[in-house]
Amino acid sequence: MKRLPILIVLFSLISACGDSERARQAKFFAFGTEIDVSLYGVDNQTAENTVDALEAAFNNVNNTWHAWQPSTLTRINDAIASGEPIQVEADVAAVITQAAEYAQDSQHLFNPAAGKLFEVWGYHQDNWFESRPPPSQESIDIWLHAAPTMQAIRIEDGTLTSDNKMVKLGFGGFAKGTAVDAAINALKQLDIENAIINIGGDLRAIGSHGDRPWRIGIRHPRKEGGMMASVAIDHDQSVFTSGDYERYFTYEGKRYPHIIDPRTGYPATETISVTVIHQQAARADAAATALVVAGAEWPQIAASMGIDHVMLMRADGQIEMTPAMAEQVRLIDPSQQPLIRQITTP
Ligand code: ADP
Ligand code: MG
Repeated sequence: MKRLPILIVLFSLISACGDSERARQAKFFAFGTEIDVSLYGVDNQTAENTVDALEAAFNNVNNTWHAWQPSTLTRINDAIASGEPIQVEADVAAVITQAAEYAQDSQHLFNPAAGKLFEVWGYHQDNWFESRPPPSQESIDIWLHAAPTMQAIRIEDGTLTSDNKMVKLGFGGFAKGTAVDAAINALKQLDIENAIINIGGDLRAIGSHGDRPWRIGIRHPRKEGGMMASVAIDHDQSVFTSGDYERYFTYEGKRYPHIIDPRTGYPATETISVTVIHQQAARADAAATALVVAGAEWPQIAASMGIDHVMLMRADGQIEMTPAMAEQVRLIDPSQQPLIRQITTP
């Protein structure tokens, strides 16, 4: 896999000097990637005090939801596979319930119960590979036949059960968003009002950079290190991008990216990248993944997911976006003529 460049340009930042009129930056490593935290209008001491709270928030998400290293999630998956009930803490149950809600809203194009399918494709492992044959049609058919979705999961009085043993939870499609929301909540509890939490290019920004908005860049999916657009953040917004360029392998000249269409069991290839802006990071993350799967029907899925800011690049390079996105985003290449599409109520 290609190494990810640092994907977001923060305009006029970084300072270690004593005044509180500059943004301060800190870096963390979690989820196999770098996390950048920018704070504005705080003194050094306050900035340092946030580090422990943020580290705890990131570690908690990572330890709870890691899909293949021993975690709360792997224990839950073991119980589901053996048909046993399992006790879950309230905060764990809340995230699972949220996943089920996003799945339902996306008409199960976002399917976090499809962990076995992600495994069949080899996307749940630390060792990456550039090239290998795709899995057998038979292994995909077995999964399609069992058709596991979040509808199989019940949580009652703190006990989780599944009536489908092929359900395997895999939260890679919205774990970053969950972590970003947790980190922003931790900052808000410390009375920090102006900040960005940026995980490898996906982010949530609150407040502003003094008297001007936070301005962030959206990477170009085909120009390494290049930007496709810039966005001025309106007070509290998350910007999440999913695409075919982050994790993929190639075989006999064909690219197999890591977002899988649960209807076919194969990687979604109609769309190169989708950017979603929404207040809550977890929903923005889930929606970006779902809209990559949705292909040409993305306006209906955006509507059912409650998302009105969408920008995407189709496989043929055409950019499409919603009117709300067109108002907020600035394309770097002015010769690009985006196609404006209304979201449509299903
Ligand atoms: P990234 O984390 O690279 O920004 P995404 O948020 O789109 O990308 O998440 C991709 C991950 O989500 C995959 O690695 C896999 O674990 C999981 N995934 C793939 N397809 C789906 C899907 N249809 N629904 C839910 N999760 C998916
Ligand atoms: Mg996602």
